[in-house]
Parts: sequence; structure tokens; C-alpha cells
Amino acid sequence: MRAMIKVYCRGHQHVADGICPECDQLFAYAAQRLERCRFGARKPTCANCPTHCYKRDRLEQVKVVMRYSGPRILLKHPLLSLHHWLDGFRPVPARKP
Ligand code: SF4
Ligand SMILES: [Zn+2]
Repeated sequence: MRAMIKVYCRGHQHVADGICPECDQLFAYAAQRLERCRFGARKPTCANCPTHCYKRDRLEQVKVVMRYSGPRILLKHPLLSLHHWLDGFRPVPARKP
């Protein structure tokens, strides 16, 4: 996720190197969601999640980042992209009552 946000941040000239504070905040938010994910080790990819836990504005921001960085990261980090793609086939766990 950080790699995706970094590609987006640099691509939009927010900073010359590293990651800008705003993009860093988005990453911190995503990392916190991941840490508190209700599915634990059975976590699906967030894109396949049946009970998305992101706030609407954050979700929109992540979608924009994914749309921009997805194709770019495929060329930059092919192995990382492959793992992420394979993760997408993990079955979605049943919703907790
Ligand atoms: S969106 Fe779904 S899979 Fe992703 S962290 Fe939130 S609850 Fe977990
Ligand atoms: Zn940025």
C-alpha cells in the first residue's frame, strides 16, 4: 500500500522524494484499518471486502490512488503486483453475526 501511495505522491509532484504529509496520513489511516481488520488472518483484499471499514472520503482517496498507481506499479514492482493479484483470489470470509 505504501508503495502505491508513494507512486501516486511522486507522480503528482507532491514531493521530490519520499512521501508528503497528506499521503503519509492516508497511508497511516490504511495501516490502522489493516491493523484493526475484523477478519484477522482471514482478511480478503480490501477491494473484495464485504464490509468495507473505510470512511467514505478515505475510500475515495484510496480508489484514486489505486487507479493511478495500479498500472504503474505493475511495471515497477512486478512481484509485488503478482502477490497482490493472487491475494485477490483468496475467498471472502463469511460476515460475522
Ligand atoms: S476494508 Fe475490509 S478487509 Fe480491508 S481492513 Fe477494512 S474490514 Fe478489513
Ligand atoms: Zn503526496
